[in-house]
Amino acid sequence: MTQEIPYKIYLHENEMPKYWYNIRADMKKKPAPLLNPATHRPMTFEELQPVFCDELIRQELDNTTPYIEIPDEIYNFYKMYRPSPLVRAYCLEKLLDTPAKIYYKFEGSNTSGSHKLNSAIAQGYYAKQQGLTGVTTETGAGQWGTALSMACGYLGLKCHVFMVKGSYELKPFRKEVMRTYGAEVTPSPSDTTEAGRKILSEHPNTSGSLGCAISEAVETAENTEGYRYVLGSVLNQVMLHQSIIGLECKTAMDKYDITPDIIIGCAGGGSNLGGLIAPFMGEQLRGEAEYEFLAVEPASCPSFTRGRYAYDFCDTGKVCPLAKMYTLGCDFIPSGNHSGGLRYHGMNPVLSQFYDEGLLKATSIEQTRVFKAAVTFARIEGILPAPESSHAICAAIDEAVRCKETGEEKTILFGLTGTGYFDLKAYEQFNNGTMTDSIPTDEELEQSFAKLPKVEA
Ligand SMILES: *Cc1c(COP(=O)(O)O)cnc(C)c1O
Repeated sequence: MTQEIPYKIYLHENEMPKYWYNIRADMKKKPAPLLNPATHRPMTFEELQPVFCDELIRQELDNTTPYIEIPDEIYNFYKMYRPSPLVRAYCLEKLLDTPAKIYYKFEGSNTSGSHKLNSAIAQGYYAKQQGLTGVTTETGAGQWGTALSMACGYLGLKCHVFMVKGSYELKPFRKEVMRTYGAEVTPSPSDTTEAGRKILSEHPNTSGSLGCAISEAVETAENTEGYRYVLGSVLNQVMLHQSIIGLECKTAMDKYDITPDIIIGCAGGGSNLGGLIAPFMGEQLRGEAEYEFLAVEPASCPSFTRGRYAYDFCDTGKVCPLAKMYTLGCDFIPSGNHSGGLRYHGMNPVLSQFYDEGLLKATSIEQTRVFKAAVTFARIEGILPAPESSHAICAAIDEAVRCKETGEEKTILFGLTGTGYFDLKAYEQFNNGTMTDSIPTDEELEQSFAKLPKVEA
């Protein structure tokens, strides 16, 4: 007997997982450690202390504990907007006339509009617990800055956000949301930091980049008493917090006896994708099941599909530790693309290793095709998706269309990471037919690769 699957599968709040899942515990070959840029030795707890909160460093360096309990205060905050719905895209399936079943996990129903709040509240909580007064961070598209502002507003922590200048100018209302939640917002590069002044002197007209905003935020945290820096993606601790997405998904799917064949997520720094696939990849690593995993990135910033697997700086200012990851080079500044949250030069080290080992596949898509999929989705499923999320939508549609051609009745699961209400300038361009695609040339990438730090294997 197959039971009727509802349009939206909502778990009861008591069914929400009480633990985050640390996939590194199930990896036989552990991910390459962060390295000290001066000595090229693995970063120690003490070396990371001036920049990050103590408990978050423990989580960053913990390769062995599989389940980490979610503290009550974080769990109660989660209850305000979680569990998030798992939706069966019946209408999209019908439109595509596909035998595939399509599900998406929707993370955009909180005010910050994305999954980023899952880690923001955790990072803010540990900062407060340590007795700190404030945190600094960078934001690209603005979702992370907004999420962190919300978390800090709730916890009573100060929050200083360096927002990539291009995005600051394109999305003035984002800034205002952050200020409403109590944050201070500075466009980056700025003249308030050494890193910012250096970048401005070399590229006076730059619209900024995430790597550059990170340098400014780190510098400010180090120079401000009682402050630490927090990061919205890339790091293993962030992926750990985002495992709540995959754990909820798995619980909901198990409840209705649904097994995904392919799991798709957009990839900027890798946190939503890593969080979504975590429990499924865990099963695969333990030899209990097999799935296809697909990362989707913009053709303008193709870290997996055209990047190098090498040690690189996490930021343009070269003040952060070195991470072994798929990277386009920390000096790579992607051309104007509307998916601000996917414009990062590197990729989470765990996902990078999975990709290197062939466990995870990746594809890149040009933005005009992404927006075409976004509009199709908005019209048939109702939700106005974030441009970032629309990369996953586009790949899911491609897969469903392939299923129609081959007659495969695959079950597709993708992560719908957020809503696009602050991306209407981008939608306007698309609707007016003036949106273009920019794809870096091989020469541009080679120039950037040539500057990768030389690290002995
Ligand atoms: C930040 C962001 C992303 C990309 O970040 P990951 O760390 O790769 O998940 C994707 N979608 C939305 C809506 C975002 O805000």
